[in-house]
Order: sequence, then structure tokens, then C-alpha cells
Amino acid sequence: MSLSQVACSIPASPTIAMNEEARLLREKGEPVIHLGIGEPKNKTPITAILSSAAKLNSGDVKYAPTDGSPSLKKAIIRYTEENYDRVIAPQNVIVSDGAKQSLWNVLFAILNPNDEVIVLAPYWVSYPEMIRMVGGVPVIVTPEDGTFVPSFEEIQRVVGQYTKAIIVNSPNNPSGAVYPPELIGKIVDLCESKGIYMICDDIYHKLVFDGKIAAPAYSFTTKDVESSKVIVVNGVAKLYGMTGFRIGWVVANKKLVEITTNIQSQTTTCVSPVMQAAAEGALTGIQANVEALRLMMQNHRDVLMQELRSFTDIHCFKPEGTFYAMPDFRAYCSTGVIKNSVELSKFLLKKALVVTVPGKEFGMEGHLRLSYAGTIKELTEGIDRMKWALDPNAPSDIYIGDRKLVRDWI
Ligand code: PMP
Repeated sequence: MSLSQVACSIPASPTIAMNEEARLLREKGEPVIHLGIGEPKNKTPITAILSSAAKLNSGDVKYAPTDGSPSLKKAIIRYTEENYDRVIAPQNVIVSDGAKQSLWNVLFAILNPNDEVIVLAPYWVSYPEMIRMVGGVPVIVTPEDGTFVPSFEEIQRVVGQYTKAIIVNSPNNPSGAVYPPELIGKIVDLCESKGIYMICDDIYHKLVFDGKIAAPAYSFTTKDVESSKVIVVNGVAKLYGMTGFRIGWVVANKKLVEITTNIQSQTTTCVSPVMQAAAEGALTGIQANVEALRLMMQNHRDVLMQELRSFTDIHCFKPEGTFYAMPDFRAYCSTGVIKNSVELSKFLLKKALVVTVPGKEFGMEGHLRLSYAGTIKELTEGIDRMKWALDPNAPSDIYIGDRKLVRDWI
């Protein structure tokens, strides 16, 4: 069979693959604990349900405009004014099937073959693959000091004649770090002065803890959206727990929106109007749900940090936002039996039935990404099982209901 070399070089998303593996195990009746998944358990906001149900009930579900329904775009324009202090036109917005498609469209629209995009480690798994998919070259910047936030100098050092863009994701998946405002400001200046796009993946922007704020890039430039190099990607998946509705959007200059609209018109035509109605309902409804989710995630973060304390040899940066943490498991990745984070993650799934995501996938070998978006019970039980599996002095088997787990590697 003859297939595209580029397509064949793109691996499956490891987080999606993990979800599928967990789903299959659960289907078999295995008591799996999912600390890998990036979605909160909350119910869809009622305003989103009512709004999409009304659209369905109308029986009038047809093609929508390629760049998004006018009323959802209106809600996004208001959201941008309220959260980014920028007045924008409908031509500055395009709605897509999730922030993932928004990001892909932007990368396809701006990159020529071999153009470089700076990606800051730890990074969301899909950035490097999406960049490669559209012919670009990801240039990874890994903080030399072992933290999760690269210094401005480290970023500046890799900027060259082929640099087309830099992707900034703060609050950050997978680390939960929120980049300091000074760093964001310096990156904005760098991008504006060198003509580099700054792609801000703001999908977690309101899930920030302890009174911190994730400084929006627009607050560091006086330029309007039309002349600024800042591009904002956002969506309803994380803040509203609406992962299954697949609604994301881009705020950018009109030319870029026009190009991405052309791309979308040749690929997906439009986003389902039922899903767009749901997103509109979420954005225009009461926003107390977002704050409730933020508080809940902050509490889960605290529980996780407390649980991790009883592990010996594990250091964990205290997440400042999102619903992920990235503890350093290097002490357990060099045991001779387990050599890296992929093997550690496989071991935990096989022996303890706990799903984690290996740090290698995020550019941080030796770490695991843990999601605390699930319930407190799952969180505490998951960590307890991990502790059991990794403790050579623990009993070699335990029972979860009538399922016997056996730890037989040490
Ligand atoms: N960016 C980041 C950093 C993410 O974590 C995710 C989802 N895991 C996305 C983008 C994609 O979001 P969506 O579900 O809207 O496609």
C-alpha cells in the first residue's frame, strides 16, 4: 500500500491513545483510574444545552457560514472585549471544530516549507506534530534550569531568519505553570519588533489559582488586532467543560482570518450550527460555572499536592492553573526495570490500572502528567495505587473489590 510519507510520520496523539486504552479496559470491566484525561467532569452549562436544543428543535439544521454563525461570532467579539480589552470586527474571528483545528488552520495558513515555529517545553503534545504536518519545523526550547518556564534569553537565542511564529500556552498544559507577565510582555515585544507571529493558546486562561492572573498578550501591545502579530486561540472545551462540543476560535487580523476561512471552506465547510448554538449559550449565559470549576480545580490541585507529599523522591511543581500537574518521577525511571517515563506509565497502567501520560510526550522525560480534572476519590485512590505499585516494601498484591492487582516486578 502506498501512503504519504508525511502522514505516515505523524504518530497518534498519545493522550488520545491513552484515553482509548483506558476506555477499552473499562469496557472489559477493569477498575481503571484515569489520571490522564484532560476534561472536567462537570455537566454542560444549562444555557448551552437549551440553546443547542432550541436549534435542534427548530428542525432547521443546515450549513452555517464557514467562518462561524454571526450570533456566535458576536458572543466571541464580546468575550474578546471583556477579557482582552480589544474591540474587534466579525472579520477578525473564525470559529472551528475545537481549538485543535483552530491551531492547525493557523499553522497551515502562516507556514511555508521549512519555516520554524518556536515551541516552549513542556509543550502540549500536538504542537510539534501539527507544525510538521504542514511542512514547518518545530524548534523546541527547554528551560535549562529544570523549571517549566523558559527564560526570555533562551527563547531569544533560537530566533533566526526562518522563525515564523512562537506558540505560548499559559496556563500551561502539561505543567500547570503560568508564565510571568514580564516574560509575556518581552515575547510580545520580540514578536512585534521582528515580525514573528505570537500564537497564544489561551484555552485555560481563566483556570488560574491563588489570585494569579494569566496575563493576556494583548495587554502588552498598544497595537490593534489588525496590526498586531498576536493571534489568540480559544474555545469552550476547558473553561465550560464542553470538550465534546468541539468549538474553538481564532482572533487575528482580517487577512489571516480570510485565508483560514478559505482553508476551512475547502475542508470542513462549516462547524455544526447545533454545536455553535451551544457555545453561544455558554458564552452568553451566567459565568458562575467557570468560577466554580476554577475553585474546584484549585481544591483538587491542593489535594493532589498533599497526596504527592507522602511519596519519597518525588518533586512536584505546584500548578498555578489548568487541571494538570507534572511531578518529577526521575527517581523511578532509572530502576533498571523501568528506564523512562513511557515504561513507567505503561507499568502503572498494567500493574495499578492507573492512566498517566509520559512526560516524554510533552518534551519532559522523567516526568508524568497527572490530570486532576476527575473526582477527588479517583485522585486519591489513583495516587494510593501508584504509591503501592512503586513501593518495593509494599505487599505484592492488593484487592480492588474482587479484582486482585499484583505488583511483581521488584
Ligand atoms: N490546546 C491545549 C493546550 C489543549 O490542552 C487542548 C485540549 N487538550 C487544545 C488546545 C484543544 O482543545 P479543543 O478540545 O477545543 O480542540
